[in-house]
Amino acid sequence: WTEGTLAEAENSLRELAALAETAGSEVLDGIVQRRLKPDPATYLGSGKAKELRDIVAATGADTVVVDSELAPSQRRGLEDVVKVKVIDRTGLILDIFAQHAKSKEGKAQVELAQLEYLLPRLRGWGESLSRQAGGRAAAGEGIGSRGPGETKIELDRRRIRTRMAKLRREIAAMKPARETKRLNRRRHSVPSVAIAGYTNAGKSSLLNRLTDAGVLVENALFATLDPTVRRAQTPDGIGYTLSDTVGFVRSLPTQLVEAFRSTLEEVADSDLILHVVDASHPDPEGQIRAVRQVFTDIDAQNNPEIIVLNKVDAADPFVVERIKQRERNVVVVSARTGEGIEELRQRISESIPRPETVLELVVP
Ligand code: GDP
Repeated sequence: WTEGTLAEAENSLRELAALAETAGSEVLDGIVQRRLKPDPATYLGSGKAKELRDIVAATGADTVVVDSELAPSQRRGLEDVVKVKVIDRTGLILDIFAQHAKSKEGKAQVELAQLEYLLPRLRGWGESLSRQAGGRAAAGEGIGSRGPGETKIELDRRRIRTRMAKLRREIAAMKPARETKRLNRRRHSVPSVAIAGYTNAGKSSLLNRLTDAGVLVENALFATLDPTVRRAQTPDGIGYTLSDTVGFVRSLPTQLVEAFRSTLEEVADSDLILHVVDASHPDPEGQIRAVRQVFTDIDAQNNPEIIVLNKVDAADPFVVERIKQRERNVVVVSARTGEGIEELRQRISESIPRPETVLELVVP
């Protein structure tokens, strides 16, 4: 452990608290443990787990959120010590996505991701459920509804897999509509610009500034889940599409990267990415790294990119300077005050492909 890793852990924990609040929880307390490896049985060491149990008792908390992905056995082990529900970062993020998904496709994708997450954990939950339910579950299933020697959990697993297959088919069937729209834009050669960036960085605000679209701006993580596509214009009148995509977070669960691949394809497919960064955040460089990791996951790491360093009205000028020196192609703006927006429009105009595009638009 160095000071750096401690600061990183604290930033991550602060973000976890914000995520929990977004999910509708009230955050009561937090603890950090330094150890080389998580305890295989309870994640925290036994002394620390007891300390946590006392905090839970003293604050009256009903849930513990762990900033990591827990093995099913660790989750159960820790629950046995602290006596309240334990969830991990991935479970929490999936929960928020489930609350916020609006479109049919978004909802199907989140459910698929949740089931994928649930499947390997089913043993634990199945056991505790059947403990609670006593013999009822078995009676309800009825004789003949299960094969010889088949347990309830195997049956649940099979149902989940069937549901997942159905969701995959549904998602695949929804894809052509989106694809057609995108191909149409391609055919008409309208350049596409994608706004991407860490959650709460100011993507929706920026979209508003650039298009006067009146998109909802919420000071909550994940206000945006489904992509919004708007039309915008460069100062010299070239039209382009501007899409706002899902908010990124530190360790975005892999199930979600996969689930949102088609949404994230908007980013991968774009002619230009506006990578929005919150300059007033305690760790903007960490955000940049997390977002770039997702770019790599979706094969968008080589798309042209402008770093839009937002919230300069609230940022430390020293941090702004540092990022300007480290990164290429930075534009400093404030979506709130409008500072730098003209320069950004200009930069977008210089960065999107054009010539043929204008000619092609004339063809009926
Ligand atoms: P998104 O999650 O990336 O779409 O972020 P939003 O556009 O919803 O903005 C998140 C929060 O940051 C909102 O409370 C905005 O009012 C605030 N915000 C956005 N841009 C700025 C800015 O330039 N300066 C300041 N101070 N706050 C901003």
